[in-house]
Amino acid sequence: MMRQYELVERVTRYDPDADEDLLNRAYVYAMKAHGNQKRESGEAYFNHPLEVAAILADMKLDDATIAAALLHDTVEDTGSTTQDISEKFGPEIAALVDGLTKIKQLDRVTREATQAENLRKLLLAMSRDVRVLLVKLADRLHNLRTLEWVKPEKRARIAQETMDIYAPLAGRMGMQLIRDEMEDICFRILNPDANKIITDRLSRLHQESGNILLEIEQELRRTFEEKGIDANVFGREKRPYSIWRKMERKHLSLDQLSDIFGFRVIVSTLDECYRAMGLVHRRWRAVPGRFKDYISTPKQNDYRSIHTTVVGPHHMRVEMQIRTKIMHEIAERGVAAHALYKDTAEVKQADSGAREGTAESSAYRWLRHLMEVLQEGDSPKEFLEHTRLELFHDQVFCFTPKGQLIALPRGATPIDFAYALHTSIGDSCVGCRINGRHAPLVTQLNNGDEVEIIRSDAQTPPPAWEAIAVTGKAKAAIRRATRAAVRKQFAGLGKDIVSKLLERHKVEFSDKALAVAVPRLGHKNSDDALAAVGRGELSGVDVLKALGIAVDEKDVRAAKRKAPLKAGKEGASAIPVRGAAAGSVLRFHRQTGAVPGERIVGIITPNEGITIFPIFATALEQFDNQPERWVDLAWGTPEEGQRFPARITMELINEVGSLAQVTHVIGELGGNIDELTLQKREGISDFFDLTILVEVFDNRHLNDIMNGLKGKSSVNKVRRVTG
Ligand code: MN
Repeated sequence: MMRQYELVERVTRYDPDADEDLLNRAYVYAMKAHGNQKRESGEAYFNHPLEVAAILADMKLDDATIAAALLHDTVEDTGSTTQDISEKFGPEIAALVDGLTKIKQLDRVTREATQAENLRKLLLAMSRDVRVLLVKLADRLHNLRTLEWVKPEKRARIAQETMDIYAPLAGRMGMQLIRDEMEDICFRILNPDANKIITDRLSRLHQESGNILLEIEQELRRTFEEKGIDANVFGREKRPYSIWRKMERKHLSLDQLSDIFGFRVIVSTLDECYRAMGLVHRRWRAVPGRFKDYISTPKQNDYRSIHTTVVGPHHMRVEMQIRTKIMHEIAERGVAAHALYKDTAEVKQADSGAREGTAESSAYRWLRHLMEVLQEGDSPKEFLEHTRLELFHDQVFCFTPKGQLIALPRGATPIDFAYALHTSIGDSCVGCRINGRHAPLVTQLNNGDEVEIIRSDAQTPPPAWEAIAVTGKAKAAIRRATRAAVRKQFAGLGKDIVSKLLERHKVEFSDKALAVAVPRLGHKNSDDALAAVGRGELSGVDVLKALGIAVDEKDVRAAKRKAPLKAGKEGASAIPVRGAAAGSVLRFHRQTGAVPGERIVGIITPNEGITIFPIFATALEQFDNQPERWVDLAWGTPEEGQRFPARITMELINEVGSLAQVTHVIGELGGNIDELTLQKREGISDFFDLTILVEVFDNRHLNDIMNGLKGKSSVNKVRRVTG
């Protein structure tokens, strides 16, 4: 195990200003926190955070990152809390450790390949600070290095997850060394046979062509030396996994792969890169189509290099990568190297070039953002500190209780979540639990929230949800469901109307008979025809005629005209009213309202529904000559606490506190005031006309309120509004 002073020394060697005290305290704290915990290998657990810190020290990262690495498993795996870390190490390190703890909690999520991209995004979205990702990658790398101690099933799962998420992430952050090592370890675990075949073949090839490679290497060195270019030349063997990937991608056999051997040429200046390339091309013939200049056009992850393939001695294809030392560091260490080299002119120049040349369409624009921050910060430490990942801020990622990951636009609610799972789940959604707690459906979801949808088959989505939902899918589904619900109500209403007419002719309603008659009415099916009756587009009499029932139209008119008189009797033929909810086809006449106990009647308005009038409403007179629009209604049993509107009017004496007296009485007696208008009488008068739309339980409740008002000295002539 690495000693405390060894770690501190490693850090101070590249950063003399590092906070030694901080590193010492973090070392001691983590060691004590992990105490006697053991890893699967049997060694002390503390060795793991220590090795993670060492990996990051190799990358020459700042003291806060090293401290966070030492502490990264304390909150999740020991008794420590974020609070505790914050008190002892300050908010900066506490935030880093907290970020790592949150990411670790994601490990329980089921990880399917199809979710990998989303998980990668979630990881980025949750890591507000790039250092969290750096520690996480180092953490994963060390876990991979010690994977032999882990049970085979778990080993395969970790390897697959690394291939899906962490290795590509390392690649996109430009950290090629970490990516290569991750892929090599995982390939060995996931595909041992292929790995063995390729490794064996590689070592045979190496033996066969060993001398040739040496020959080329020496010739390259000599050529550069002659022309005064200070270059390092390395023979470079392709890794088994990258060979395998190429074979798969291009459907080639191992023998068909020609450029297994490559060289890397590292020079001092950008100018020398192009000179070296010229020399190589002059010496050997370049393979057409293989030349790539990633210096003038860097890759998304800021990789810069010149690639070319030439036909070398013995007709062997040799791949060559030519780059400067700094380009090389950045290619291998990515973000971490940027922190070190930010001050050099070469990086600055390349960064401004990247800014102009990079395609904006890439989802990984964030590296560009990193580059921008890079130029603004002062020190490497500051660079890392201020590198917030402004990525995917327009999205949130949430989980189902089973761990399925759902990506939603920012501002999305549990309603959107439910519809994202399935339309039927959205339609039947009545409530939700977020992270195990009941929450309103209007709650805005946050990254990492676990959302459980509570459903009821009796539910249809309220039309008001359309305004709450954010996603197009949810909005469209709610509109669809609302239309369907309204149509169903109209169909029910139509059925009531037709049944009632049939009753008068002593005929029983029959679905079968109606289904036969429907084509004659020009409708597709019974529901369609009944909804048309409900909407008032089709008259019930026409339906009877289509059913072959002899109808004397005069009789029908006469019968209809009498209908209002019958309305109050709660006869079996009346349609029960239980209220008029928003989105319902039933509504109360706005001028009068109507409450249980009052006799009511309905008037059909085509395409809108039925308006409920109290029988005394003067407005009913205008429908006297349209008997086909009258419908019998009766009060059903209201739901508990359900209120109904009634408009009342009174004279109010113009004196201080009279209005307050009125509202007080209504409030005392449990009425709700929905609307209130106050009008001064014409001329010189001491009276106002006061009209109130009050919400009450029933007729008796309304009378109590009216009597209460009559008892007040400032109130005269209280009466129900009739028109
Ligand atoms: Mn760990």
